[in-house]
Amino acid sequence: MPNIRKADVVIVGGGIVGAAAARELAKYNLDVVLLEKHPDLAMGTTKANSAILHAGFDAPPGSLKALLNVRGNELFRKLQADLGLEIRLTGSLVVATSDEELAALGELLKRGTLNGVPGLKMLSREEVLALEPNLTEKTLGALLAPTGGVMSPFGAALALAENAVRNGVTVLRDCPVTAFEVAGGRVTGVRTPQGFIAAKFVVNAAGLASDAVSRLAGDDSFSISPRKGEYVLFDKQASSLVSTVVFPTPTKISKGILVSPTFHGNMFIGPNAMDCCDATDTETTAAGLAEIISGAARLVPSIPLNASITQFAGLRAVGSGGDFIVGPSPAVGGLVHAAGIQSPGLTAAPAIAERLAAVLGELGLAMTPKRSFDPQNPPRIVFNALPAAEQEELVCENPLFGRVICRCETITEGEIVAAIHSPCGARTIDGVKRRTRAGMGRCQGGFCGPRVTAILARELKIPITGVRKDTAASYLFFAKIPGVCEVNGNA
Ligand SMILES: Cc1cc2nc3c(=O)[nH]c(=O)nc-3n(C[C@H](O)[C@H](O)[C@H](O)COP(=O)(O)OP(=O)(O)OC[C@H]3O[C@@H](n4cnc5c(N)ncnc54)[C@H](O)[C@@H]3O)c2cc1C
Repeated sequence: MPNIRKADVVIVGGGIVGAAAARELAKYNLDVVLLEKHPDLAMGTTKANSAILHAGFDAPPGSLKALLNVRGNELFRKLQADLGLEIRLTGSLVVATSDEELAALGELLKRGTLNGVPGLKMLSREEVLALEPNLTEKTLGALLAPTGGVMSPFGAALALAENAVRNGVTVLRDCPVTAFEVAGGRVTGVRTPQGFIAAKFVVNAAGLASDAVSRLAGDDSFSISPRKGEYVLFDKQASSLVSTVVFPTPTKISKGILVSPTFHGNMFIGPNAMDCCDATDTETTAAGLAEIISGAARLVPSIPLNASITQFAGLRAVGSGGDFIVGPSPAVGGLVHAAGIQSPGLTAAPAIAERLAAVLGELGLAMTPKRSFDPQNPPRIVFNALPAAEQEELVCENPLFGRVICRCETITEGEIVAAIHSPCGARTIDGVKRRTRAGMGRCQGGFCGPRVTAILARELKIPITGVRKDTAASYLFFAKIPGVCEVNGNA
């Protein structure tokens, strides 16, 4: 196996945690390589979750979850401007509909205050209903957290990774870690189908597979169990139903089924919480959907089911200890875990990254700040957000912006081409979708899918049969039908 390169740090896993870690380490004079087994980043838990920027009142005080949630929320609000992150501080409400739940809100307020969450406030029934008139008549009060909000989780991961690449990090996709080299009780590198990478340190940010990755290095100090959460997403016509993130009073295992706007103006309900044993099972179930529909209706009775546009499910990576595991392996040198990162792991990611960098420094990695570090990404063109005069100017400069490919979301060919050619750009149809929103609208890619496929083939200079939807082998076309169609890279 060729020794393709040497790195100071190899990060295993390109979800929000791996991407945030890559960007954090890019601030130092280090050779950093991020490895992702899928053709694109943000394809694990980071692509299917509630996308809430949690304020931080839920986790037990003193836990890593609590500490890193509150810090992550603060860091994301700072990162928003630098990276153009899609975050909106809608505020979040935890609604009580019984006296027991009202008492539980009092506990939550105490917990949030201990965790250092700013601005928490109890609202009376009248105040809540004035804010959210579509809530159930049974509403008795709510806890308001002004620093709660909604965000694009994959948008954040991709922006962090892009900034990391702009600052010298190497990202290798389609590159699973299959084995570790260990010598003298210390990890010395990782094996991948793209070659061996020698490393001083390996960061394990492999999400649902972080226990399997850890075992590859000889560390079985923790295990991960998947816990499924299902969702229904609604068309933008349902967007006026709620304007804040609306939670029920939480249970012991979950924050409960919520009703929430999305950053892009849709609305969703979910998730439930179902322990399962298959870390790849993201199918929705009739029973699960019925559970979230009735759960959401307890908060907001008028859920417009006829406006639903898709359903999906995500898997929480529940660690055996319950809390996040962020620190050195107890079994093998050179390995640092960011594992068991269940909710609020999206919010906490920049704080987890900060902690990982501190741990690596404590373990002896030379952390010399990089003078040339540029914290910003150039602004991304979002055609449908521009004033008409600027749209016209752009189309004159580049006619590709005058060709609307996704009609539901008004996404132009210019934006798709830019997404393909950006650092760590899109290589798959879903990669284009997550970067531009082409295919995210009411028709869910029914109309624009074939056109995006042709653009990917043309821009990546690959045959149509080489274009993938999402995962490693998700090819859409297998062969030409002789005499019926001619399929090639220029189609
Ligand atoms: C239902 C649900 C709701 C949630 N809601 C919220 C919320 O509202 N707010 C919030 O803050 N958090 C929320 N979370 C939690 C949040 O989504 C996760 O904590 C976060 O996405 C975890 O990111 P990650 O990078 O650790 O994992 P992942 O995104 O799963 O990334 C791990 C990556 O590692 C890769 N990988 C695995 N094995 C290998 C290998 N051998 N080699 C190379 N790569 C490998 C995977 O392909 C994957 O891309 C929710 C989670 C779920 C499931």
